[in-house]
Amino acid sequence: MSKKVLVLGEVRDGELRNVSFEAVAAAKEISSGGEVIAVLCGEGLNEAGKALIHYGADRVVLAEHSLLSNYSTDGYVQALLQVIDQEKPDGLVLGHTALGKDLSPRLAARLKSGLISDVTSLEQAGENVVFTRPIYSGKAFEKKVITDGLVFVTIRPNNITPLEIDESRSGDVSAFAVDVKDLRTVVKDVVRKASTGVDLSEAKIIVAGGRGVKSQDGFKPLQELADVLGAAVGASRGACDADYCDYSLQIGQTGKVVTPDLYIACGISGAIQHLAGMSNSKVIVAINKDPEASIFSVADYGIVGDLFEVVPLLTEEFKNVLV
Ligand code: FAD
Repeated sequence: MSKKVLVLGEVRDGELRNVSFEAVAAAKEISSGGEVIAVLCGEGLNEAGKALIHYGADRVVLAEHSLLSNYSTDGYVQALLQVIDQEKPDGLVLGHTALGKDLSPRLAARLKSGLISDVTSLEQAGENVVFTRPIYSGKAFEKKVITDGLVFVTIRPNNITPLEIDESRSGDVSAFAVDVKDLRTVVKDVVRKASTGVDLSEAKIIVAGGRGVKSQDGFKPLQELADVLGAAVGASRGACDADYCDYSLQIGQTGKVVTPDLYIACGISGAIQHLAGMSNSKVIVAINKDPEASIFSVADYGIVGDLFEVVPLLTEEFKNVLV
């Protein structure tokens, strides 16, 4: 049976995050030929709205309000509940991002619905859609269906392939008169840390360093490799604890969970808590001077050697091929 499915698009610095397109693709699958409606919250969203149409949304609703220009749980819950009340969807898809993780349980509670979080794949099985999600820090997967009520899921970034862009696609992008008031928290200002520009949680390639990089300067060769590959730099907690880099780069059980196409682990031993954040990467390359390091047990390609010799060699080779 075809369904009406609502997707929340995420805009950061005026740009749609990739997970928004992935959410549209997931919603298409859930809708079984029904309608996919994307919702955007914030200000100045018209271009982002059109892009969502090009990536497969049938219609876009713009909930524009100055109090939504920065994310707040209260503001987004109010806005989405109003859109949901008007559209009465059968399904709801959010990214399993910092925003989605914060918003989805609150919405599910308000809607008295279930929620399947951190979905990595989905498939049709008769009348239902079967959702797959990792459990036990990625060591196993479970499959779930929602047989009754709102089909509410969050999807892990980088796992569901977006639909092909089609710039000839057209669809209605219309304003929704949203009423936002009595916020308990208001974001006055957002101060960003300096970053390399590639968002770690959405990066297709990550070059990550561990305690083996030995110092803040030790990250420089990793950054050079990342620059050539258009990659983001990440780190183990060992490297963060040693103050070689900022905690915002930490990958793992208590850091970010990432699923890039290529993960290059440099001087990382492969503790279970680190693997929890990266073992579902599509291709893993490990560089470690200890041939017994556990990271090699999850690596597709292993290089036993000194990272300070291997990484610059890789950078040179990739420069020859790519630049
Ligand atoms: P180490 O284990 O010290 O490994 C360094 C590696 O570098 C070694 O394998 C060594 O052979 C190699 N090496 C050294 N020099 C070189 C060289 N020149 N060239 C090549 N290789 C070299 N960790 C995380 O990463 N993320 C988390 O989210 C996280 N959460 C945790 C939560 C809890 C509750 C706990 C208890 C721990 C958590 N940890 C986490 C910490 C985790 O257990 C490990 O301590 C940490 O991952 C180790 O970091 P590391 O691999 O960089 O360091």
